[in-house]
Amino acid sequence: MTQDDCLFCKILAGEIPSTEVASNEDAYAFRDISPNAPTHVVVVPRRHYRDVADISHKEPELLGKVAALAAEVADQEGVTESGWRLVANTGPDAGQTVFHVHFHVLGGEPLGALNA
Ligand code: 5GP
Ligand code: ZN
Repeated sequence: MTQDDCLFCKILAGEIPSTEVASNEDAYAFRDISPNAPTHVVVVPRRHYRDVADISHKEPELLGKVAALAAEVADQEGVTESGWRLVANTGPDAGQTVFHVHFHVLGGEPLGALNA
C-alpha cells in the first residue's frame, strides 16, 4: 500500500535517499533532513496511512509497532535515560507537512515545556 505522490513512500521505496537509523518488517526510522534537536529521527510504518487518526481506525496495532520502533531508536541514540519526546503532528494546525503518518523522536538536549 503506497501512494505515488508521497515523499515517505518514496523514501521507503529507496527512490529518495535517507539515512537509516533502525528498521524492521513493519516500520522504518531515518534521520530528519532538518533536525530540531541532536537526536531527530522520523519513524514511519511501511504501509501508507495519512495520519494518526487514519492508522488508528484501520490498523491500530501497527501504530503500536511504530511506537515500539521509536522506543528502540531512543535506546540506540542513548537518550532513554536523559529523556526524549515522541511527536505526531496531525493536520494543518499542528504543522503536518508530509501526509504519511510518522513519529518524530526528539532528544539529546532539554526540549522545553510543551505548554510554555
Ligand atoms: P511533519 O512536519 O509532517 O510533522 O514532519 C515532516 C518531517 O519530514 C520534517 O521534520 C522534515 O524536516 C522532514 N523531511 C522532509 N523532507 C525530507 C526528506 O526528503 N528527507 C528526510 N530525511 N526528512 C525530510
Ligand atoms: Zn506514503
